[in-house]
Amino acid sequence: MVTIPYPNVLLDALEIGVMIIDENFEVRYWNQWLEINTSHSASEMIGKNLRDFYPQIDYKVLARKIRTTLRLESPTFYDASVQNRFIEIPRTKITTSLLMNMQLQVTISPYIVEDGMVMVSIYDISDLHELKLTLQSQMKKISELNSELHRDKMIIDANLLIVKMDEECKIIEATTAFLDFFGYQPESVVGNYLPRIFGEVSVDFDTIQICDAIARHQKSSGEVKAVLASGEEVWFDTVVTPLNDDESDTLSYTVIFHDISDKKRIELLSITDPLTKLFNRHKFNEVFENMVLRRHWDEHRTFGLIIADVDHFKRVNDTFGHQSGDRVLIEVAHIFSQTIRTGDILARWGGEEFVCLLPDVDREKALYVAEKLRLAVEQLHFPDVGTVTSSFGVTIFASGDTQESMMHRADLSLYKAKENGRNRVEYL
Ligand code: GH3
Ligand code: MG
Ligand code: MG
Repeated sequence: MVTIPYPNVLLDALEIGVMIIDENFEVRYWNQWLEINTSHSASEMIGKNLRDFYPQIDYKVLARKIRTTLRLESPTFYDASVQNRFIEIPRTKITTSLLMNMQLQVTISPYIVEDGMVMVSIYDISDLHELKLTLQSQMKKISELNSELHRDKMIIDANLLIVKMDEECKIIEATTAFLDFFGYQPESVVGNYLPRIFGEVSVDFDTIQICDAIARHQKSSGEVKAVLASGEEVWFDTVVTPLNDDESDTLSYTVIFHDISDKKRIELLSITDPLTKLFNRHKFNEVFENMVLRRHWDEHRTFGLIIADVDHFKRVNDTFGHQSGDRVLIEVAHIFSQTIRTGDILARWGGEEFVCLLPDVDREKALYVAEKLRLAVEQLHFPDVGTVTSSFGVTIFASGDTQESMMHRADLSLYKAKENGRNRVEYL
């Protein structure tokens, strides 16, 4: 047995493992780092064969490496990966990873002090290895996320109507679904002012609201009507969301359009009288209720209610037939809607009776409107029926009024108008 000729203070001080072995794997030196980390002392190891302590090493490979090192007289790397393990050194570091044993990097160098021996240096590269593993798994996650994002983006592009706009309400980008829906080419949309895309600007008041929200840098939602090239009207539920581009520090806006035309059609049907196309009683009551509940009415600021009833309408039906009667109702409804202001609410109450709410009118104004309506009907001429007249009951809201109390007064006034000879307006 050959011993190391001098105490190797230098090797003991290193923060790496160092052993000296001969070609037969007999241990000649075992430094302090190895003593600490393997719990085999130098005296236990020196003079013994590595095989007896570490049978898992691939000694064929190790022998070849030692021979190469000695022949070339230069260091060789020994691959200490999982498939080709070297000595197992448990990790003492507390770590969340599953790396229980040190990942080693092993270098075999010629031991210049004595022939036929090599110095095996062992570096703990566990931290590096862990970092590499973490990086690899992060990269994998990122690439998975990327492909997920890509897939989601494709699904969105093909199915959702979304436009990205600048602060001036000009379109920057639009999804394929949006372009397809309106039959546009990307170049005819990009750079265009949004309201231009949707039919007549003056008709599409709601589109202006989208641009207003953008001008105010606000998130907003609402309903927009669009007129397609075919003339078809489409309703959208829209959501405007500001987007902050961190890089260029500019704001852009996404507008998501959700087609709600079917919902709108049903909604419209539920509030419309099928014959006259006016609001039905149901819708009228809803508006009426809200109006009564509004708190800002007082003596000077009030609203009026008119009930109109066609005179002797039963006779029209009996004499000229139900269809002629229907045509009269349609025309009366039409002339009423032409005569009132835009803010007034006109509805068919039922049969040949119509109701009208007039916001912000006093008694005189309400009577004036009723008189205008009366005249308008009187002046209608029907080829078969000739002329018809109608009677009017008028009232205005007073403090403490309910829908019922107002309807009751208007009804009584109408009754009075009938009593007093029809084709007239009465007030209560
Ligand atoms: P008055 O001057 O007192 O109001 O007499 P009137 O004949 O108009 O009153 P009455 O309430 O007796 O008759 C209303 C008629 O309206 C009876 C009904 O057949 C008719 N009517 C109700 N709904 C419709 C409708 O949708 N179409 C047609 N053509 N007639 C209707
Ligand atoms: Mg009637
Ligand atoms: Mg009548």
